[in-house]
Amino acid sequence: MTIRVRFAPSPTGKLHVGSARTALFNWFFAKHEGGAFILRIEDTDQKRSNPEFLKDIYASLEFLGIRADEGPIFQSQRQAIYREQVQRLLASGAAKEHEGGIILPVAPRQVTFRDLLHGDITVDTALFESLVLMKSDGTPTYNFACVVDDALMRVSHVIRGDDHIANTPKQIVLYEALGFALPAFAHIPLIVGADRARLSKRFGATSVDEYRQAGYLPEAFINYLALLGWAPGGNREFVPPEELVQLFDLAKVRKAAAQFDQRKLDWLNSQYIKQTPIPKLAELLAQRLLAKGWLPPDYDRAWMERVAALLQDRLRVLEDIIDEHAFLFQDPPAYQDEAVAQFLRHDGVGHRLRELRDRLDRLPAFDTTGVEAVTRGLAAEQQLAPKDLIHPVRVAVTGRSVSPPLFESMALLGKARVLRRLDQAVSLAESR
Ligand code: GLU
Repeated sequence: MTIRVRFAPSPTGKLHVGSARTALFNWFFAKHEGGAFILRIEDTDQKRSNPEFLKDIYASLEFLGIRADEGPIFQSQRQAIYREQVQRLLASGAAKEHEGGIILPVAPRQVTFRDLLHGDITVDTALFESLVLMKSDGTPTYNFACVVDDALMRVSHVIRGDDHIANTPKQIVLYEALGFALPAFAHIPLIVGADRARLSKRFGATSVDEYRQAGYLPEAFINYLALLGWAPGGNREFVPPEELVQLFDLAKVRKAAAQFDQRKLDWLNSQYIKQTPIPKLAELLAQRLLAKGWLPPDYDRAWMERVAALLQDRLRVLEDIIDEHAFLFQDPPAYQDEAVAQFLRHDGVGHRLRELRDRLDRLPAFDTTGVEAVTRGLAAEQQLAPKDLIHPVRVAVTGRSVSPPLFESMALLGKARVLRRLDQAVSLAESR
């Protein structure tokens, strides 16, 4: 049998991480089996559909490394097909007009289907009595359009969120009425937040786009979502996308809701950042800095690689470069009030920083070793513990009480900027 799956988002909101996982499981399954992945846009509700969300779906799928083999196919362009199918049911007497729409009356009986994750599911059709096929405005209902499309697109496996499990018996009734063969069904669990309720805004980001913007690497994000409720065995946590395709096994997806664990995602992302080759990392960081206007278009690539190497082990997400390390790119740096109060506003600090400034000015080569030797030398001469000089210098140069290794940061900033910042800190220290 040829494996054919589809991912069928509605462009009525940004692509949710739960939908992203559904898309990925479809993708892994199709690629593992050498099958086809179809992208179908369920946009029959024109009022709620928005081209912005369509763009978001495309961008998010690209981020997830998913390239549809067929599609996008738009339901809004398939009206004639739905009408033709409904016509068949009207002609045979199975369907009838009702309040301007078209319905299919359903005789009471049991419908059983086998779900690849949940096993046999039996539902009494008395629960729904009749099914609406076409609404009074002439558009098809989700269930009807979905069945017609899945059948005509020869979808072999319907893999979707288990919020649709109640629709499946209705869809089976429709398959039978239309005389179409049934696909296999797998309903995969939703993703829930720390409160065990469906992942919602209250617990942070819910759309793929927000994670992309925050600077999660696609590999890390894919790896994380894939292992949420599925495991390749062997306690592995770090499984890059190519391997996910090789190892994926739909039957092993857990049927309990999957709990989103932000800390684990962060950990995984930092692992992927640590493994990124420096030139690549420098490039990724530079893209963000360029977009912010914090780097000139003709920036120094070698310098940017030194920045990347310095920060590689400290970044949780790429956007940390903007949120935590602005001092490397912004002059003057933003001085944290607390850090200034704690480390600069003490007797003698202004004097020492001025002395350090003058000594650094005379340093022939402004490199990490030289800067460190001068700073430590001055501390020793003044009988200070090194930290009693290093902390104020850190605040002077970075504006913050926590920073990447100080002497390397100073070397990266270069003499002119460091001297200017020390001057500034002297005024801050003395302006009490
Ligand atoms: N448009 C539906 C959704 O986004 C598709 C459900 C399905 O896969 O059948 O939930």
